Amino acid sequence: MSQNKIPLAGVIGSPVGHSKSPALHGHWLKTHGIRGHYIPMEVGRDAFKQVIRALPRMGFVGLNVTIPHKEKVLELADMVTDRAALIGSANTLVFQDDGKIHADNTDGYGFTENLRRGAPDWQPQTGPAAIFGAGGAARAVIASLIEAGAPEIRLSNRTQARAEAMRVEFGAKVCVVDWIAAGNMIDDAVTVVNATSLGMQGMPDFRAPLDGLKPGMVVTDLVYTPLETGFLKAARDAGCQVVDGLGMLLHQAVPGFERWFGVRPEVDEAARGAILRI
Ligand code: NAP
Repeated sequence: MSQNKIPLAGVIGSPVGHSKSPALHGHWLKTHGIRGHYIPMEVGRDAFKQVIRALPRMGFVGLNVTIPHKEKVLELADMVTDRAALIGSANTLVFQDDGKIHADNTDGYGFTENLRRGAPDWQPQTGPAAIFGAGGAARAVIASLIEAGAPEIRLSNRTQARAEAMRVEFGAKVCVVDWIAAGNMIDDAVTVVNATSLGMQGMPDFRAPLDGLKPGMVVTDLVYTPLETGFLKAARDAGCQVVDGLGMLLHQAVPGFERWFGVRPEVDEAARGAILRI
């Protein structure tokens, strides 16, 4: 890129009005004194392909991709990382100098990095992980826990067929637990994750029995509105190490910012504050 060019990045999806990414990247651009911009772009399915192909010529160095394009973008990309292919979706695009599109998925990185920072003693390889939920976010969680060495992944979902499909895709480490008995999978787990949208503002509460939670377990919730969900409160009351979901959102943004703007940003209180203020 020429020295005078102002690098542009952004988030593309529909809807994007609720996205916290512009506030976060805007904060990092300001902190590092970078003459760049990060822009939310509301683009529906019809125009997506056309827009993506035009952006590199307009000075864009990359993008975050959100609903409903995260899966579809894999077909348009010229290069797809192994982890994006395994997860089946991409959230971060890097435009190469020749206009080629490189697609990656950093959600799993964000998930494990958040736990490593928030619970420094976390040893995922020492015992089973229990995951509630088998939606898009759970795919990234499963892939990253397998990569982190978890010996067994217990998975439970209201719609059991979705969990069964993941067992087929991710292999023998994944075992599916009936949703009615989901609370049982916590026993002797090292890592416990709520990857459903239950407990989020406007959604019903998480109701599976959590009596199996014990001190020492590392427990996280992907939901971060509110920051302390009922699920995390139960874990805190049981003496578990609790890590909220906002850190995952912050950490998944780091690799993209670094590739686009050439500086690795810090996930610190100021970055959290930038998101919490909006
Ligand atoms: P998704 O693909 O729509 O999946 C939603 C999940 O929640 C499914 O497992 C679904 O079960 C379950 N669910 C929804 N309503 C339920 C109910 N009433 N009872 C039981 N289960 C229910 O969504 P996603 O992309 O995986 O996201 C899941 C959550 O993670 C969302 O709250 C999202 O905001 C959050 N998230 C956070 C981060 C972060 O950085 N912290 C990143 C990604 C996602 P069924 O399959 O039975 O419908």
